[in-house]
Amino acid sequence: MTGGPGRGPEDLPGPATNPRLGLTGFVSAAPAESLVPLADDERRLLDEAVALLGGHRLAVLTGAGLSTDSGIPDYRGPESVPRSPMTYQQFVGDEALRRRYWARNHVGWRHLRRADPNAGHAAVALLEQRGLLSGLITQNVDRLHSSAGSVNVIDLHGTFDRVVCLQCASTFPRSRIAEILEDLNPGYLERESDAGDVAPDADADVDDTGDFVMAPCPVCGGMLKPDFVYFGENVPKARVADAYAMVDAAGALLVAGSSLTVMSGLRFVRHAFKAGKPVVIINRGRTRGDEFASLKIEAGVSEALSYLARQLPDLPSAEAIIRQGRE
Ligand SMILES: [Zn+2]
Repeated sequence: MTGGPGRGPEDLPGPATNPRLGLTGFVSAAPAESLVPLADDERRLLDEAVALLGGHRLAVLTGAGLSTDSGIPDYRGPESVPRSPMTYQQFVGDEALRRRYWARNHVGWRHLRRADPNAGHAAVALLEQRGLLSGLITQNVDRLHSSAGSVNVIDLHGTFDRVVCLQCASTFPRSRIAEILEDLNPGYLERESDAGDVAPDADADVDDTGDFVMAPCPVCGGMLKPDFVYFGENVPKARVADAYAMVDAAGALLVAGSSLTVMSGLRFVRHAFKAGKPVVIINRGRTRGDEFASLKIEAGVSEALSYLARQLPDLPSAEAIIRQGRE
């Protein structure tokens, strides 16, 4: 079970109650033709967003709501199953918990590797190709923005496909550590591969973890950790500085699919707001950034981003700006 007090197996969203979730917790990406047509009021709000954002280079901040159309559950979204993710302190301080975490991650990360980007990721990539972005900050560790073709991406909370040594700071591809874990735990994957729910941080719903053997760092024998930011852990300073620079280089901030529950994302909304830049938030349900938003749009994230990627006007070329300056 993924945790949560007083919750039995009957409460888990299975295929029968949630057609979006297969047995593995994943379905393949929703293709563009499955986008839901926008309602009139949604279109009206998006046209307001075009008016607010048009002519500005944008910084984009995305969260878990962007990946739900790729079959990755959003554990803070309005329809999500409550979860209590492990904290950094629990991970480094408790060997049994760490063993359990690695066992579940060993099963879960494969599902993230199989997920495909959706129309929302494609729309953000298109915004960049059109020259409308200063860059993209994502709170997701699934790397689906990069898969969709986004180039200037800050993976604020790290990525699922890399592992770091807490002793010597070496990093390794997750696939290399997977091979070591498979050698150390023969047959484990076959036994547990029909895992149920898999969280966005690759935590799979696996219970039988007591005899799982963890891999030491191949370089120094130290403690390995999936290279993403845990609860209770800070985003590396240099990464935060890069993200602030991205917001500073933009004329406006567009937030999509994040409830901004954690400060690591919310601070960029505050930063843009304090600088007097328009902030547009697309998210179903309340966010902690709503009070800083010039405009809040409750609509499907893939649909809304696809609309904006088509409707936002081109930025004036450098020549046009120089020409205007002379007139
Ligand atoms: Zn090491």
